[in-house]
Amino acid sequence: MGETVPVFQRVAIIGLGLIGGSLASAIKKHNLAAMVVGADQSQSDLAYALKNRVIDEAAASVAEAVKDADLVVIAVPVRATEAVLRQVKPALGAQALLTDVGSTKASFVNAVRSVFGERLPACIPGHPIAGSEKSGIAAANPELFARHKVILTPPDDVDATQLARLSALWEGCGARVLTMAVEYHDEVLAATSHLPHLIAFSLVDTLAGEDENLDIFRYAAGGFRDFTRIAASDPVMWHDIFLSNQQAVLRVIDHFTHDLDQLRTAIAEQDGATLLRVFSRAKAAREHFSKMLSGQAYVTTNKQKQVTFNVQPGGKMTGDIRVPGDKSMSHRSIMLGALADGITEVNGFLEGEDSLATLQAFRDMGVTIEGPDNGFVRIRGVGIDGLQAPRGPLYLGNSGTAMRLFSGLLAPQAFDSELTGDASLTGRPMGRVADPLRSMGAIIETAEGGRPPLKIKGGQVLEGFHYDMPIASAQVKSCLLLAGLFAKGTTSVTEPAPTRDHTERMLAGFGYPVKRTGATASVVGGGRLAASAIDVPADISSAAFFLVAATIAEGSDLTLRHVGMNPTRVGVINILRLMGANIEVSNEREAGGEPVADLRVTSAKLHGIDIPEAEVPLAIDEFPVLFIAATCAEGKTVLRGAEELRVKESDRIQVMADGLEQLGVHTTVTPDGIEIVGGQTLGGGTVDSHGDHRIAMAFAMAALRAEGAITITDCANVATSFPGFVELAQQTGIHITAEGA
Ligand code: NAP
Repeated sequence: MGETVPVFQRVAIIGLGLIGGSLASAIKKHNLAAMVVGADQSQSDLAYALKNRVIDEAAASVAEAVKDADLVVIAVPVRATEAVLRQVKPALGAQALLTDVGSTKASFVNAVRSVFGERLPACIPGHPIAGSEKSGIAAANPELFARHKVILTPPDDVDATQLARLSALWEGCGARVLTMAVEYHDEVLAATSHLPHLIAFSLVDTLAGEDENLDIFRYAAGGFRDFTRIAASDPVMWHDIFLSNQQAVLRVIDHFTHDLDQLRTAIAEQDGATLLRVFSRAKAAREHFSKMLSGQAYVTTNKQKQVTFNVQPGGKMTGDIRVPGDKSMSHRSIMLGALADGITEVNGFLEGEDSLATLQAFRDMGVTIEGPDNGFVRIRGVGIDGLQAPRGPLYLGNSGTAMRLFSGLLAPQAFDSELTGDASLTGRPMGRVADPLRSMGAIIETAEGGRPPLKIKGGQVLEGFHYDMPIASAQVKSCLLLAGLFAKGTTSVTEPAPTRDHTERMLAGFGYPVKRTGATASVVGGGRLAASAIDVPADISSAAFFLVAATIAEGSDLTLRHVGMNPTRVGVINILRLMGANIEVSNEREAGGEPVADLRVTSAKLHGIDIPEAEVPLAIDEFPVLFIAATCAEGKTVLRGAEELRVKESDRIQVMADGLEQLGVHTTVTPDGIEIVGGQTLGGGTVDSHGDHRIAMAFAMAALRAEGAITITDCANVATSFPGFVELAQQTGIHITAEGA
């Protein structure tokens, strides 16, 4: 942190108020400069700063402070900047770096240009996002910037060494440094800081002007105090800020008054639906925002978090449980519920990061969605033609499914839209859906290589068409069928091999006819969807871990409720049964067009098998845990025809083989599968899941039959597909704890 080697020799701080004084004392405290010299128009402030060791030297003038300084910091009110720069100019050394702390950035850049003309000095504007309602040197505090952000707005041709030094100075004060463009800074701050201050000033002033003002303030509740705290900020400083950031502030004020007017109208017209929509969207945005602020949002931060599972050996599986809802169906229930007429109530919704992003995206398009609350969601459908233009790009987290399905839904809308996602989603190709949609008449722009963001031009009339899918993909099929709901005539898709049919089934569940002839599914555009109640089936891919666990652990008897039994997904049950598992299927029924059932599993002695190739696509996600079952079986199990496993979240064949090897189990890896001879001793050890949630959960199950404890690293992604996994595993009999969760 630069505690021992000073980053600068002589730092001159012009303006020793709250921010200048705090920076000076932080630099001294952390030994970030050999010498800190201050200048201020007030002699008493200067004397105070020297006496209290905020600075090393008090300069008699700005020029005296600046002479020989290698860093000059302007910390005066924004509107005083230009006058101060005129005093700085003659004394500023050729090698010196100029910076500031002002709350608006374009104004500083303009002032530097107007004072220095053609011969611009090295200059990196800055803005610490830290402060208080107090001002002046007496409020200075060396810890003011600790754990706060500092925004630097370097020019394009910035000297990298200078930028690194200035960043090191702020980091040495405990701050986190971000860089952005000047204009972007001013837009962002107008919205997040300037507008809230304006509203606080205005609200307090309005109430203070009421006749009963004293009483109003006397009875003011805590919310009022919190909300209006910032109205005690320095009026001069804020006067400067609003006048300096005029254009950006005016834009955001106009936007806000328009929205406030809408709320006024809604109240006047007793329009509860609009109020509910705006409030629930705001509440959700606030929660999302709090998550972001505490660093837990979405997958990028999940990946940064290190979660390790520690699993003690032994145990038996008992109980009566329901695993979280199916992800594919959770996504689709929101999409179809939003487009339906009437209210759709969803139970068993998977509250994972991806499905939450889908939910938020529909809120951004004007759909009122309540929840999720313990898997319950209520969607007030807007009808097939009721989506509204979102204000900005729709963020879909890490979900490739969502992006492909959304492109089908949005291509036929009247409004323009843009789809983005996290870093990993942004790297995935979307040409597979964009190309056939273009054949229907859609206008879609992608980034290089057909990758997101997808920019969709609204107002196009799509024509129904027939598509022979070159590669079997449920996502492409679903995308085109969804576009087909809005297209003229019939849209049909033929698949080269069977793929999951959740979209077709759920459309039928919402009363929209889907025709199925052989390998072709088709819809006729122009119909409507009727709201429906959906009990999302428990995800069979999540249930699979418990099916294997209860089979391999002696003395187990476990019931899994409401498990999705879509024929394209039940390979894991078929394979386990072929190996000798006891799985009883009962209470078979339909939910939202999907077959579901309850499963009871008791322990069984398994034997190795040649896995029939026809079962492979039906169990493709379940192989990691099936490999654990094979390890516990008697005799050899052979898997072939599963090369797809090598390109999942990890190379699942190699990563599983490596993990088993760590536990003392030898396997033979083949290009398209694996051979596992069961009955070898399963020892303890440490296994790297490579961030693959299914690998992590599979090894947690292996501990039931291991002779020692198993440690599994890189498990943060489990929370995305299976929230509550560790708790449910503990509750049913696995001795598991999670570290760092
Ligand atoms: P402050 O406490 O009022 O300090 C400003 C200091 O600059 C005062 O000591 C003032 O002297 C001095 N000054 C004014 N005009 C001058 C001139 N022409 N020559 C020399 N010194 C002069 O204000 P602050 O809160 O530190 O704000 C300073 C800058 O930081 C502003 O640009 C503000 O936008 C920015 N900022 C403030 C905050 C915050 O929360 N306060 C947060 C981030 C950034 P007098 O006392 O004699 O007027």
